[in-house]
Amino acid sequence: MASDYYSKQISNLIAEFSRLPGIGEKTAQRLAFHVLHMPIEDVKRFSDTLTKAREQVRYCSVCCTLTDREVCPVCDDQKRDHKQIMVVEDSRDMAAYEKTHKYGGVYHVLHGAISPMQGIGPADIRLKELMVRLQGDVDEVIIATNSSLEGETTAMYIAKLIKPTGIKTTRIASGVPVGGELEYIDEVTLLRALDGRTEL
Ligand code: ZN
Repeated sequence: MASDYYSKQISNLIAEFSRLPGIGEKTAQRLAFHVLHMPIEDVKRFSDTLTKAREQVRYCSVCCTLTDREVCPVCDDQKRDHKQIMVVEDSRDMAAYEKTHKYGGVYHVLHGAISPMQGIGPADIRLKELMVRLQGDVDEVIIATNSSLEGETTAMYIAKLIKPTGIKTTRIASGVPVGGELEYIDEVTLLRALDGRTEL
């Protein structure tokens, strides 16, 4: 490894960057050297931001999205329709729908999808919390998990769980490219998928 040629502090820095998703050895080196050339105040502010975010961000006690409050701003908004719950895989998917400003319901964030291949089962995502919410007054659950194999598996599993409750359960239309992650999809496609949802 190239980092073998550097002194210990530099190698450690490169190693930390390499542990991040999507960062290869070359990019890690570039980032490490960038940091080493930054003014010390900027580096301190950056590390402080990382620490604070990690310490203060937690799960919303209602929808499980990541937030720095007990209840996130969406769940706290009384103007929204709290009887319509859209189930998404992560907070980024929620942000994608929020960006459209066209959805007036609330969300439930699973933080993952069921994947037998990766050993992720129903107990590893925030499904229990969803089922607890459904004991309240709910008109519709919109399942907006990704159209990947894992997303579809999760959608089917949730639909089966909800069935006995009699709550209307819909699935967003698959105008969304297979395997495409929701956060990368444009607003028009998102809205078309939402409008074209079908009952399960
Ligand atoms: Zn919330």
